[in-house]
Amino acid sequence: MSAAARLLLIDDAALAASFLTSLLEESGSGHTLEWRNTYEAGLEALRSGAFDLCFLDYELGDRSGLDLLKQAMAEGCRTSVVMLTGQGNRELDHQAMSLGAIDYLVKSNFTAVDFERLVRYLVGRHRVLERLRDSEERFALAVRGANDGIWDWRVGAEAAHLSPRFKAMLGFTEDELPDVLESWRARIHPDDQKVVRDQLEAHVQGHSDYFEHEHRLLHKDGSWRHVLMKGQAVRDAAAKARRIAGSFTDVTVSRARDVLTGLPNRVLYLDRLEMAFHRSRRDPDYGFALLFVDLDRFKSVNDSLGHSAGDELLVQLSQRLLGCVRLVDTVARLGGDEFTVLLEDTREPDGPARVATRMLEALKAPFTLSTGHEVFSSASIGIVNSSAGYKHPEELLRDADTAMYEAKAAGRGQFVVFDPAMRQRAMHVLSVESGLRHAVDASQLVAHYQPILDLESRRILGFEALVRWNHPTRGLLAPGEFISIAEDTRVITEIDLCVMRIACAQLAQWRAEGRDLFISLNASRVQFTRPLFPTELIAVLEATKVPASAVRLEVTESVAMGEKAQVLPQLTRLDELGVQLVIDDFGVGFASLSVLQEFPFKGLKVDRSFVSKLETSARHVGIVSALMNLAKALELSIVSEGIETEGQLAILRRLGCTRGQGYLLSRPVSAEAATALLGRQPVG
Ligand code: C2E
Ligand code: MG
Ligand code: MG
Repeated sequence: MSAAARLLLIDDAALAASFLTSLLEESGSGHTLEWRNTYEAGLEALRSGAFDLCFLDYELGDRSGLDLLKQAMAEGCRTSVVMLTGQGNRELDHQAMSLGAIDYLVKSNFTAVDFERLVRYLVGRHRVLERLRDSEERFALAVRGANDGIWDWRVGAEAAHLSPRFKAMLGFTEDELPDVLESWRARIHPDDQKVVRDQLEAHVQGHSDYFEHEHRLLHKDGSWRHVLMKGQAVRDAAAKARRIAGSFTDVTVSRARDVLTGLPNRVLYLDRLEMAFHRSRRDPDYGFALLFVDLDRFKSVNDSLGHSAGDELLVQLSQRLLGCVRLVDTVARLGGDEFTVLLEDTREPDGPARVATRMLEALKAPFTLSTGHEVFSSASIGIVNSSAGYKHPEELLRDADTAMYEAKAAGRGQFVVFDPAMRQRAMHVLSVESGLRHAVDASQLVAHYQPILDLESRRILGFEALVRWNHPTRGLLAPGEFISIAEDTRVITEIDLCVMRIACAQLAQWRAEGRDLFISLNASRVQFTRPLFPTELIAVLEATKVPASAVRLEVTESVAMGEKAQVLPQLTRLDELGVQLVIDDFGVGFASLSVLQEFPFKGLKVDRSFVSKLETSARHVGIVSALMNLAKALELSIVSEGIETEGQLAILRRLGCTRGQGYLLSRPVSAEAATALLGRQPVG
């Protein structure tokens, strides 16, 4: 025994004390003995925890040593207790052992050497136990500190050890969750159940070296926690898994951060939003606001400078946004270039708008990237206030998103506060969009045909195909009702091809009757962002056996506003195929004359807005006259649109225009009516 031990004697007889003291002195061990002669004093000494070993007499005046033992053990006493007995009462001794005493000694029945040996053994044992307890405690503390829960499962058994920390992670106290595997298994998210089961089984079967899986567990409060579960099996000689133990780590928080910017991500944002939402319902004085921030034209930064430049911009930008709010507010990144802000405890009605203004200001200064590039950025912001009687937090996010889109539509770089009329519009857009997707498959799209005539002979040279939507409840809809939504949602690409198929099939039929006509097809600018478009058009021509030379493709000047590198290859390919490219609505767009030089256009259509003023405005006569000269010089064909009166027709003819279309000559009509119109002129 390395160090001297402190011994305690609790005995009401002074004789015992002097006897043990003399034995100790005789042994020369250096142990010290302290003596207490009453129940209370003895208990007090045991409570102090200062002793390595205690000798306890059965009789303490009118109190019982066993009672003292019982009480001390109940209080968690850690000192080893040896009972001192007069004449060896087996019954009592057993009772004492069952209460926690470690041994008993029959008084006066041992020598100094025996006593010394016994003490040495018991003190040593006590110290080992103490160390063990310490390390157990340290281990438990370490586990708690590492925020990990522990699990331990004897393979095949239902019982499993689930540490208190694990239970606490899910919001339960030690007793609330039974120590069975099912306590864990039943709380796994339904979508994760199968893969967790399979992976655990694979590990039990020895197919993996260790088990590691992240899944969602149901917290007592109904939320989902992301938990990383690790484990490893202990195997027997036959490699059969006997037992698996491991840890649980709550990774919800790390899962809740956006990796790039370090801002809260969608999960965490929704969590905070939900908290603010519930608080606002409990406390009528508490209000909050939600800002949806979307960068304008972020894609062009990514496309022109690369993704790492885009990432850098997002990081810098998130810092500027953070600088515009208070500490209690939350700025989160939902993904891509979308940010959301939660403004807490908003007291002044125009507070959120002021924050939005500050943000727009903060974005005005250029961003300097590590490549040396200076980038300018702006954002569109939608704002929604908590006051408007919402039932679910997600509704606020949806409305802020809607307001953000309004801000974009209103010209970007600004903020818009949500009002319920916007929801109506958004609903309308949504229903048109989903209706359109369905319309393509359900053959609800039809083509109407407006003749393009020789203005001299009034002979039909060809038709422009114009789409109509045969809506199941709203009747026949003109393009004005749905084209812009179709373009925004890119459904237009399907619509165009659908009309092309219908119109080419119709043209093939007319041509089969011996009529040498052309068809004018409208193609949205969206088509030309898709490299596949020319191939798709060729497929339509091949399927309908229409020669490319019988097809005019009408595109608006806005095509030329897109990325030239993206658009030009498509236009060139179509031109090489023999499809004639025509600029529609010429003169109303922003395109400069250089467009006519740089792109392979073969014709242009004079916009109706010029034609309609020919009879009243000499200036417009001048403009159209100039257009005619331009077309002649550049060898472009010209068609005038929207001819409504004989007067307009006469002026156009005088200016040298030979082709035109308009209500005067014919409205766009159904295929049958168009066939009937053709029937009035000789075949050819
Ligand atoms: P657009 O290509 O300029 O077509 C001419 C539009 O002017 C047609 O309107 C036609 O009905 C109308 N129009 C023709 N003559 C007159 C006239 O004398 N007076 C007046 N006031 N209007 C006249 P619609 O059919 O409503 O089409 C509107 C626009 O929708 C088209 O303008 C075209 O840009 C687009 N569009 C139509 N069909 C398609 C299609 O299949 N694909 C694509 N991408 N766009 C289409
Ligand atoms: Mg057109
Ligand atoms: Mg037009």
